[in-house]
Amino acid sequence: MTDNQDDNLAGLALDTLAIRAGHHRTHEGEHSEPIFTTSSYVFESAAQAAARFGGSEPGNVYSRYTNPTVRLFEERIAALEGAEDGIATASGMAAILSTCMALLEAGDKVVCSRSVFGTTTVLFTKYMQKFGIEVVMVPLTNLDAWRDAVCEKTKLLFVETPSNPLCDVADIAALAEIAHSKDALLVVDNCFCSPALQKPLALGADLVVHSATKYLDGQGRCLGGAVVGPAEPIDLIRGFIRSCGPSMSPFNAWVFAKGLETLRLRMEAHSKSALELALWLQANPAVEKVFYAGLPEHPGHALAAKQQSAFGGVLSFRVKGGQAEAWKVIDSTKFLSITANLGDAKTTICHPATTTHGRLSDQEKVEAGITQNLIRVAVGLEDIDDIKADLARGLGA
Ligand SMILES: *Cc1c(COP(=O)(O)O)cnc(C)c1O
Repeated sequence: MTDNQDDNLAGLALDTLAIRAGHHRTHEGEHSEPIFTTSSYVFESAAQAAARFGGSEPGNVYSRYTNPTVRLFEERIAALEGAEDGIATASGMAAILSTCMALLEAGDKVVCSRSVFGTTTVLFTKYMQKFGIEVVMVPLTNLDAWRDAVCEKTKLLFVETPSNPLCDVADIAALAEIAHSKDALLVVDNCFCSPALQKPLALGADLVVHSATKYLDGQGRCLGGAVVGPAEPIDLIRGFIRSCGPSMSPFNAWVFAKGLETLRLRMEAHSKSALELALWLQANPAVEKVFYAGLPEHPGHALAAKQQSAFGGVLSFRVKGGQAEAWKVIDSTKFLSITANLGDAKTTICHPATTTHGRLSDQEKVEAGITQNLIRVAVGLEDIDDIKADLARGLGA
């Protein structure tokens, strides 16, 4: 193997890219990826400094622009998604914001799924609208509503699949076709599946955004995000980040790059346990309904089976009763973490109606299916029988 590992990576599989892509070994011969904790870089001469600043010579100038460890993570996540290029950001929200700021202007229109991460809704409806961007929210699975919403001014369609917390599944190829009929871009938030389970670009999407905070890290340590896709839009987004500042820290990039090495193994283990838990919950008389796309009766099952290689680690279920019964299940657990985060080795449990979706009005909650008896579980990597036993405490077993 040469110093420059990337030269030899063409055509390799996801498992190999996850471990090898992006590391350009330095003259020290390090085996594991190094962390470059430096804010700036020195030049050999005043002339070289001028050339770097002027852009006539490629190379590092300042870590808000480029950093070798951040670049390692960018190259690795881009390789896994099958993208030409990628850019890292300070958080998942910074990835979405940077995409909007770089690619949209006043007068443009965005069509966004109603079932996106709560803060994404705030970003679009509160902040983007403030700057003259029209935002229309449509039901995730209703393709006619998407078709009716797009027009000549539409620049971007934004979707997250499967949805949180009810696991509704969007048809990425069909949405790409709708977007392209108006020369708009389809942006997919691939946080719940990660490239280990779903490759939106191969299905026709134009850009993929990530909250690296979740499964890419996998152990709940760092905040970060990424956007991957063709070189041209990524360059525009890079320009925004470089000038406006939501860059990723090198330490976080190192954590994410190392997290990617075990991504597929973790995603398969999360998915296997989530399916087993969904079936177990379904058989419990205290449970009214389970929402998981891995269940054959889930309305998105066939589509998920087609566009994903497994069904992911997040499920939700309704207990018989209301908020009191739901809270009892949550409060009866001994080791599950009561937190809204997900994508962690630790199993997390939350009550969407009063936490992640607490901002919605009662009417909006009914429309979104966020009932008071709904509980969301992001299944971790602990022993599945221990997870079941912890949930059984509050389910009258
Ligand atoms: C968490 C999350 C985000 C936001 O990511 P941060 O890293 O918290 O900024 C965006 N989309 C989805 C689907 C998420 O779960």
